[in-house]
Amino acid sequence: LNLIVLGTGSATPSLSRNPSAQILSANNDLFLIDCGEGTQIQILKNKIKLSKLKNIFISHLHGDHYFGLIGLISSLNLAQRTEPLTIFGPKGLEQIIQLQLKYSQTWLHFKLDFQEVNTEKNIVIYENEFITVSSIPLTHRIPCCGFLFAEKPKLRNIIAELMPKEITNSELVFLKKGQNILDREGEIKYNYLQLTKEASAPKKYAYCSDTAYNESIVEIIANADLLYHEATFREDLLERAKTTFHSTSAQAAKIAKLANIKKLLIGHFSSRYNDLDEILIEAKEVFQNSEIAIENQTYEI
Ligand SMILES: [Zn+2]
Ligand SMILES: [Zn+2]
Repeated sequence: LNLIVLGTGSATPSLSRNPSAQILSANNDLFLIDCGEGTQIQILKNKIKLSKLKNIFISHLHGDHYFGLIGLISSLNLAQRTEPLTIFGPKGLEQIIQLQLKYSQTWLHFKLDFQEVNTEKNIVIYENEFITVSSIPLTHRIPCCGFLFAEKPKLRNIIAELMPKEITNSELVFLKKGQNILDREGEIKYNYLQLTKEASAPKKYAYCSDTAYNESIVEIIANADLLYHEATFREDLLERAKTTFHSTSAQAAKIAKLANIKKLLIGHFSSRYNDLDEILIEAKEVFQNSEIAIENQTYEI
């Protein structure tokens, strides 16, 4: 898995930060997570190939998380896309987009499929051969959820130099699944433990967009390799965080600590902060392996 952060600002675009959007790539598939205004420009800057984009996940209907969506859909259409595109998001998103398409008399060359997400439940909303995506219920002013991307267990790796030449492809598949190959007498012909080695552990990435502090997500995101958590404010604006249903940097770090996360990326910063040093110090005091999410940077998970 690897992640490109496209936007780390909250509320309005600014000269230094874009609204929320990220691209996660997994086995050659691209997932777009949120799509704030300006996402298309960020996609161009990062030379992201949209032909590989099949699924978009929108956390909630505040504009800083989806105002770029109609523009992106429209551009994909102008680029003669024919591949279907699936958008996961809360109730209302389909209506909004269809209305925009209707009144601009835009007829799409591709199938746009909407999957309404129940933001109050932690359920698997998408899966393919390699990955499952589940919703993370968040606590915000309007229905909102995060997304947990979890790799499925991987097949064992073959040790090429030890592999007998006469082995067949179907036997290889069994070995990679951790099964021995037996001969006619029922004796072990090929031992998977000798001919293969364990694959790397499946990775997990948790995206928590806008949320007030809420420990109920800890269990869902537990042990993730990377957590992106909003840190709109610093602790001195704790009251403002509470009334707007956002988190402070220290609160994001506390969630990371409780959930035993390997690495925390904080983002969704209020435009009042030009310098992010203090916000990072605040997080590190609670959870050492915290980093400021940096736009246009790739994070290996
Ligand atoms: Zn937001
Ligand atoms: Zn919001």
